[in-house]
Amino acid sequence: DTPLAELDPEIAAVLDGELARQRDTLEMIASENFVPRAVLQAQGSVLTNKYAEGYPGRRYYGGCEQVDVAENLAIARAKDLFGAEHANVQPHSGATANAAVLHALINKGDKILGLELAHGGHLTHGMKINFSGKLYDVSAYGVDPQSYRIEMDEVRKQALETRPDVIIGGWSAYPRHLDFAAFREIADEVGAKLWVDMAHFAGLVAAGLHPSPVPYADVVSSTVHKTIGGPRSGFILSKEEYAKKIDSAVFPGQQGGPLMHVVAAKAVSFKIAGSDDFRDRQERTLRGASIIADRLAQADVAEAGVSVLTGGTDVHLVLVDLRHSALDGQQAEDLLHEVGITVNRNAVPFDPRPPRVTSGLRIGTPALATRGFGDAEFTEVAEVIAATLKAGAASDVDALRARVRKLTADFPLYPGLSQ
Ligand code: PLP
Repeated sequence: DTPLAELDPEIAAVLDGELARQRDTLEMIASENFVPRAVLQAQGSVLTNKYAEGYPGRRYYGGCEQVDVAENLAIARAKDLFGAEHANVQPHSGATANAAVLHALINKGDKILGLELAHGGHLTHGMKINFSGKLYDVSAYGVDPQSYRIEMDEVRKQALETRPDVIIGGWSAYPRHLDFAAFREIADEVGAKLWVDMAHFAGLVAAGLHPSPVPYADVVSSTVHKTIGGPRSGFILSKEEYAKKIDSAVFPGQQGGPLMHVVAAKAVSFKIAGSDDFRDRQERTLRGASIIADRLAQADVAEAGVSVLTGGTDVHLVLVDLRHSALDGQQAEDLLHEVGITVNRNAVPFDPRPPRVTSGLRIGTPALATRGFGDAEFTEVAEVIAATLKAGAASDVDALRARVRKLTADFPLYPGLSQ
C-alpha cells in the first residue's frame, strides 16, 4: 500500500509534471480533451483487476456480476445516445475498433475506399503500412483542389471506377460536415457497405449539433476521448444485422479481455453526454472554432501568407494553411508551444513539405470548451494565435505567454486535484 510518490518517485514526478503542464497551457490539439474527475475515478478503480473475456451474461471468467452491470449500462447508454440498434463498447482504442469493423465486414483482399491520408483521412482507412493497407485493396478519394472539400460527385466517380466492398466516411483532419445521405446512395449504387468513423465529431453528434451518420451507415465506429471527452478508448455502433459479426470481430477476433475500468468510464461519459451541460459545452466548442477560423481568415493574417482551409469550419477544428507563410508547420507548432498553446502540425492537402514538417496546423477547441471557455476567451485565444502566426520568429513571446497565463489562471483545471 505504499503511495506512488514513495514507491516510484520518478513516475510520480511525471504525473505531477503533466498535471502542471495541462493546467498551465492551452490545450488545442483537436483530438484531445479533459475527462471529468468521475472518469478519472472509474479508470483508476479496482475494475482494472478484472478479467471479463466475452460479453455480459456470456463470460469466460467467474466473478463478472459487477462488471456486467457496468458494460450493460455502457451499451444501453451508447445505443440511447446515438439511436443505434447495436453497440459494442469493448474496443481498447479507435484503431482496434476500426480493425474489428473491417474484420467484420469484409475479407482479406477485398476493396476499401476512404479519404486519402494526406487529405485528412486516418491511418486505419487504408494507409500503406497500417493493417488496413496491408490486408485490403485500397483506393482513396481526396478533397477538391479548389474548394478543399470532399465533393460527392468525385467520390461517386471513384466508387464506380473501383467498385469497393466498403466505403469509408470519416476523417482526422477535415473542417466540414460530410453528406452521409450521399455516401449511402453511392454505397447502394455500387453494392458497398458504408462505414462511418465519427471518432472526431461524435460529441457533436451526441449533442445534436452535427448530422448523425447512424441512420445511414451500416457500421459507425468512434473513439470516446475526443469531442466526447471520455476515457481513451473506442466503441462501435451498427445495425442489428451486423451485431454478431461486430461482437465476434472485437472478441475473440481482435482483443482478449476488455478493460473493464475503461468500459465503466465509458458508461459514465455516455451518461454525461446526454446532459444539458454537455450540449452547452459542444455549442461553445463549435463557436470557439468559428471564432478562431474567422479571426485567422482576416486580412492582416492573410498578409502574412496564413489562411484557413475552406475559409471556415463546421466542426470543432480549424485547419490552417501555411504554404505561403514564413513558418512551416513544425516552426508554427514550436512557436505556439513557446507561447503556451499546444497544437499539432498537420499536412494540408497537396502539401509540398514532408509529413514530419508539413505546411499546416490543426487547431481544436474541445479541451478549452471543457475547461469552461466561452466566446470572450476564445476571442482572446484567437488574437494570441493570430499575433503569433503574423509575427512569426519576431513574436513577443513573453507578452503572448503572459496573455495565455491569464487565461489559464482564470479557468483553473482540476482544482484541488493532486496526483
Ligand atoms: N479514427 C479517427 C478518425 C481518428 O482520428 C483516430 C485518432 O486519431 C482514430 C480512429 C484512432 O483512435 P486511437 O488513437 O484511439 O487508436
